[in-house]
Amino acid sequence: MFALLFSAINVLLYHYPFYIFVNSRLDILNANGFILLISLILCALLLNALVFYIGLYVLRKVGKGIIALFFIINAIAIYFINTYGVILDRSMIGNVVNTNYEESSAFMSIGLVVYLFLLGVLPSFFLFKIGIVYVSVKRFCIHIFLTLVVLLTIAYANSPNWLWVDKNSKTLGGLVMPWSYVVNTVRFYNHKNKSNQKQLVLPDAKIKNTSKSVVVLVIGESARSSNFSLYGYGKETNPLLSKIDNLHNFTTQSCATYTTAGLKCILEHKNTNKLYEILPNYLYRNGVDVIWKTTNWGEPEVTVPNFQNKQKLRTDCDSGICDYDEILLNDLENEIITSTKDKILIVLHTSTSHGPTYYKKYPKAFENFTPVCKSVELADCTEQELINAYDNTILYTDYLLANVISRLQTLEEYQSAMLFISDHGESLGENNLYMHGIPASLAPKEQLDIPFIVWQSGGSRALKTDQDHSQHNVFHSVLDFLAVDSPIFDEEMSIYEK
Ligand SMILES: [Zn+2]
Repeated sequence: MFALLFSAINVLLYHYPFYIFVNSRLDILNANGFILLISLILCALLLNALVFYIGLYVLRKVGKGIIALFFIINAIAIYFINTYGVILDRSMIGNVVNTNYEESSAFMSIGLVVYLFLLGVLPSFFLFKIGIVYVSVKRFCIHIFLTLVVLLTIAYANSPNWLWVDKNSKTLGGLVMPWSYVVNTVRFYNHKNKSNQKQLVLPDAKIKNTSKSVVVLVIGESARSSNFSLYGYGKETNPLLSKIDNLHNFTTQSCATYTTAGLKCILEHKNTNKLYEILPNYLYRNGVDVIWKTTNWGEPEVTVPNFQNKQKLRTDCDSGICDYDEILLNDLENEIITSTKDKILIVLHTSTSHGPTYYKKYPKAFENFTPVCKSVELADCTEQELINAYDNTILYTDYLLANVISRLQTLEEYQSAMLFISDHGESLGENNLYMHGIPASLAPKEQLDIPFIVWQSGGSRALKTDQDHSQHNVFHSVLDFLAVDSPIFDEEMSIYEK
């Protein structure tokens, strides 16, 4: 009762900005919007009660002290959210952590003192005034189990609303007290540690010959193989690729269901918990010209000088394609021809099939499958509309890949290859699941089955005929194609015949 009472106080006192935001993004007069609002409040109430309950039971008095501290920080946070409209996400925590005393004292005001007293000190006073009756361990466990069952039921019953939650997760997460600052402080330090993580240096490599060759590695985002007609899909989503000679597609599964882990698998020479020197860094250090172009994010640190992110690409772009992934292809042949090196790797990290707003990821001319879903509130769309929008992103991917290949075909003095592989798959409503991110061991096949499509210029290399494929083929195949000899090269893992 104590945990529930103070969870209710927490939900009541510190979530005004949260309700304002939900109300502005949701039609709460409509049945689905109303149910979602009630579900969000219930979840916040039960989750907080659960954490408070466990904290109080295990830590007793210390638990009370921590909740009081939360209330006081909540009061300060609410003051800043209401006054300055800030969102307590990871980068905002970074700002707070990096603020010095002089800067922070400038924020002192009467308003802040009033907030602190009414919303921080007063509830904390009652927290210590009221006594707690502790239950037996058995009842404690039963309470936790029942709360979890109710929470999971609410989550599952709301699965059509996950896209809405996902779309707004950053803001929602920044407005839920006290977890916005607790989780984002942890995320801030985690991220800081990760970006400082040194890549383990691989043994030096040697380039075996001086013939000119180029590999364009296209990394897909949330592309699943089952919606490619190359993989047997009923709709014609690969009208261009299906007409190209020397093109092959392999049955492949991703090693993870989220971007950062999928990228690590594509770029590393083997699957480990450590972080080894990734493909672009390794090749660049050993004399290959490497260009990385991206409209996405999530790769381990790329240290090649020619790194072109979305902002850089957009600054250099002045046509109708600047908002779409075709921007990655700008100047492609020129970059190859003007390179002073014999061996070139170009990585194009796309974002075309990223949800939930699939319809925004391709130009209008590619809206072939209609009608398309244009809302993140799934209740407003049929499943077919969602799939249509997704299929249009695959149709656009087909165009992008065919475009890369036709550009490479014009460079006759180069042996060239195009490799396309996705970071992970995507759920589009199968088993009531959407998007991706279910842990790989539990994930449905839609989130794991990815396209791995390769093309090489005529007479360059033959492909092995029977081989199992994974994202780790990429590293060894690129080394092989560019004739890079290395002690860590695994001939078995290359897709090319000797
Ligand atoms: Zn991804």
